[in-house]
Amino acid sequence: MNKNQQQEHTGSYYAATANWSTAYPELRESLEADVCVVGAGFTGIAAALTLAERGFSVAVVEANRVSWGASGRNGGQLIHGFSSDQKIAARMGAGFEKTLWKLIWRGHEIIRERVQRYGIACDLKPGFIEVASKSSHMNFLEQQDAYFRKNQHQHEFRLLDREETRDAVGSDQFYGGFLTMGNGHLHPMNLCIGEARAAEGLGVRIFERSPVTHVEHGARPRVHTARGHVTADSVVLAGNAYHNLEPKHLSGLVFPAGSYIIATEALDEDLLKSVNPMDLAVCTSNEIVDYYRCSADGRMLYGGRCNYSGRDPASIEKSIRPRMLKVYPQLKDVQIEFEWGGKIGIVLNRVPIMGRIGDNVYYAQGYSGHGVNATHIMGEIVADAIGGTMEKFDVFSQFEHFRIPGGQWVGNQLIALGMLYYRLRDALS
Ligand SMILES: Cc1cc2nc3c(=O)[nH]c(=O)nc-3n(C[C@H](O)[C@H](O)[C@H](O)COP(=O)(O)OP(=O)(O)OC[C@H]3O[C@@H](n4cnc5c(N)ncnc54)[C@H](O)[C@@H]3O)c2cc1C
Repeated sequence: MNKNQQQEHTGSYYAATANWSTAYPELRESLEADVCVVGAGFTGIAAALTLAERGFSVAVVEANRVSWGASGRNGGQLIHGFSSDQKIAARMGAGFEKTLWKLIWRGHEIIRERVQRYGIACDLKPGFIEVASKSSHMNFLEQQDAYFRKNQHQHEFRLLDREETRDAVGSDQFYGGFLTMGNGHLHPMNLCIGEARAAEGLGVRIFERSPVTHVEHGARPRVHTARGHVTADSVVLAGNAYHNLEPKHLSGLVFPAGSYIIATEALDEDLLKSVNPMDLAVCTSNEIVDYYRCSADGRMLYGGRCNYSGRDPASIEKSIRPRMLKVYPQLKDVQIEFEWGGKIGIVLNRVPIMGRIGDNVYYAQGYSGHGVNATHIMGEIVADAIGGTMEKFDVFSQFEHFRIPGGQWVGNQLIALGMLYYRLRDALS
């Protein structure tokens, strides 16, 4: 358990505009289930919902609130792929290309199906553009364009030159962009609590304010909290950057990095059109990205910056606002109404970490800042594995992950050094 646990939601725009407040009970009983999921972010809830749809009895045990972690705090950008598609492709070889292309879009399919089937109101909209902050970054965008062409992507996608990019995003800061209408954006907390409610409707028992203290291994592992336990055939650990469970197997693999977002007041119509004429989610091509989009009620949600110190900046607004004004100087007089941060789970090789301890305790974590889509993919792959289909689970579990000895603090200092290198690269390239 860490000091962040058993908290209400952070003061984010999302918490302030959530469709409802979850109030699931604390775990105070001895419960039996087919599967016990630890953590109620996207990974945990997506896995629980898939399992419930397939007839498993499931209990979800959450330390704080459903979507309390990164899943209820993120930029809401629905982007294809993992942070490591090329590494996965290189490892798996040419025979895996088609499967990988399908897989990197699978989270989008799951989300769209669920939004429709369960009537989840989460402002899901199409449209994403990666913009080149340096002319040298156009190379990467051209490669992306070629990759999409090769795979005959079914949604609109286009490489934009400097003028077209300015027209698309309302800023002349960028050298070009790669527009993809198959990607998009959404209100992540409303998606996560909507999926939780759908899972509940299928019989999933959800417990909040119930930090898991440890897992007792065995033929039927037992998940313990201070006041209760769940005995199950399988356990899924889905605490990502916020959990410290199973340190013998998992410490030193995922490093929590802080990322921060500000939300302006609602903009008037002209200003709103000037900053994001096509209502796209936007992400810069830097190693240390800025990401932004406009909310359904017309605010600019601008995010960026990473830190590894474990301490939030004294003023998130002071740290992020200048970055926003560099791109959109016309926002200089608007009020910032919300600021918040959350922890991204960074993995050194950027390949999500998936595996199993013994025969029946599964884990999926470490999306390196790229998790709205990837968590849903991983949730499904864990559910497949629990149901006995190991094919995709084996793809991810075979990756060896570098483990930094000396605990999280040392790891974070090493990653901070690495990030300093990337910051310099951004500045010099
Ligand atoms: C500021 C920010 C912006 C981001 N922007 C984007 C974006 O635009 N697009 C994108 O794709 N990705 C983005 N990400 C990444 C994305 O949000 C994450 O990859 C994803 O939400 C991870 O989901 P998760 O369920 O694995 O973890 P989390 O959502 O962090 O959930 C983990 C849960 O486990 C619980 N938990 C931890 N320990 C225990 C315990 N011992 N017992 C019980 N419960 C426990 C926590 O309370 C928490 O609720 C962003 C992340 C941040 C922080």
